[in-house]
Amino acid sequence: MQFAAIPGYDRQKANLSQMVREDRLPHALILAGPEGNGKLALALALAQFVLCRNPSESDSCGACPSCSKANRYIHPDIHFSFPTIGSNVVSDMHLPEWREALNYSPWLSKNFWATALAGEKEGGNKQLNLNKEECNKIIQKLSFKSFESGYKVLIQWLPEHLGNEGNRLLKLIEEPPEKTLIIFVTEQTDQILPTLISRCQLIKIPAFSYEIIYQYLKDKLGVAESEAQTIAFMADGNLFEAMQIAEARTSDEARAFLEWLRACYKGIPAGMIHQVEEICTGSKEAQKQFLFYGIHFFGEVLKQKYAKDLAVQLNAEATKTAENLAGLLEVDQIDRILQLFNDRFFYLERNANEKLLFLDLSIKVKKVFRKENFADIFEQPLTGLLNIK
Ligand SMILES: [Zn+2]
Repeated sequence: MQFAAIPGYDRQKANLSQMVREDRLPHALILAGPEGNGKLALALALAQFVLCRNPSESDSCGACPSCSKANRYIHPDIHFSFPTIGSNVVSDMHLPEWREALNYSPWLSKNFWATALAGEKEGGNKQLNLNKEECNKIIQKLSFKSFESGYKVLIQWLPEHLGNEGNRLLKLIEEPPEKTLIIFVTEQTDQILPTLISRCQLIKIPAFSYEIIYQYLKDKLGVAESEAQTIAFMADGNLFEAMQIAEARTSDEARAFLEWLRACYKGIPAGMIHQVEEICTGSKEAQKQFLFYGIHFFGEVLKQKYAKDLAVQLNAEATKTAENLAGLLEVDQIDRILQLFNDRFFYLERNANEKLLFLDLSIKVKKVFRKENFADIFEQPLTGLLNIK
C-alpha cells in the first residue's frame, strides 16, 4: 500500500516519510488511534516505503518488485503479527485470512477480524490474544537476516492483546537486531505495558474526518451524495463502519437492480412491467439511486472487460453478474446502456413521468442486449418522457 492510497493524514505522512529520508527512524514505533482509522494502513505504507527500491521523496514507487510483494502482503521482510484465537496458535497459521482481510479493508475492525477467524456465530465471544508462542516466534524471526533489502519490518496489530506476555518483547525492542523496524498499531494504549510504551516512539493517528469519509463513500464506493452524507455522519470517523453500512444498504439496492436487469435480459413484458412497478413504489430519491447504481454497475462491467485488475466495488452477486455481462456484451453495447442511464437521470431530475421513464429504459436495455434496432435507439424522441405542463 502506498501513502497515496490512504485518504487524508497529510501531516502524519509527511512526518513518517521525512523520518525515513533523514534516516532517523526509531527502532520501534506505536501508531495509536481509534478503530476504523488509517493507522494500520499508514503502518503498511511505511513498511513498503522503507523497503521500496525506487522511492520518491515522500512515497514508495508502487511498481518495483519489493512494492509488488508488499502490495500483496507477501514481502518476506514484512512480518505480520496479530491477535488469534486459542492457545498454541500463532499469526503465521492465519496469514491467508489476514491477507484477505487487508485486501477487503485496511481500516479493519477487531470484531470483523474475530469473525473472520471464528465464524459468524462465535466471532464476538471468542477471546483474541497474542500469546507466548507468538512472542517467541517474533523474537526468532527478527533474529534472522533480512531476505532481500536490508530492512526487516514487523507490524504488530493490536498489541493490547499481549497482556503480560509483552514483557517477552521488551529486550527485543530495547536492543533490536540491526536494521529492524517494529511498528505497533494499537487502539488502546492504556492496555499496553507502560514499560513497552516507554521504549517506543508514540505517534497518535486521529479518526478520519467527516469530509474524508463522505468523499470516500462517494468516489470509491459509488454511494450517492445524500446517502453518503448520512452514512458519514453515522460512522463518526470510523471508515470501516462506514463501509459496512454502505455495503448493507447497497446489497438491498443491488438485489433490486439485478432483479430488474434479469427481467430485461429475459425480455418478457409482464416481468419487466412488474419490476418497473416495484421501482416506482420507491421515493424519487430511491429511483435516482437506482439509476446511479446502474451507472456504477455498468462502469464495473466495463472495468471487468478492460481493466480487470482495478478493484471491483460491488457485492459478490453483482460482481458475478458483471463478470458474466462483460463476457456477453460488446463495448458499444455497454456504452449505450451507460448513455441510457445517464439520460434517464437527467429526465428524472426534470420531473419525467417515472413509470414511462423506467418502462422505456427497460425496453431499450432489452433491445441493446439483443442488438435489436440497435442503431435506432437514440433516434427516438425522448421528449415524450417529460411531463410538459
Ligand atoms: Zn517500490
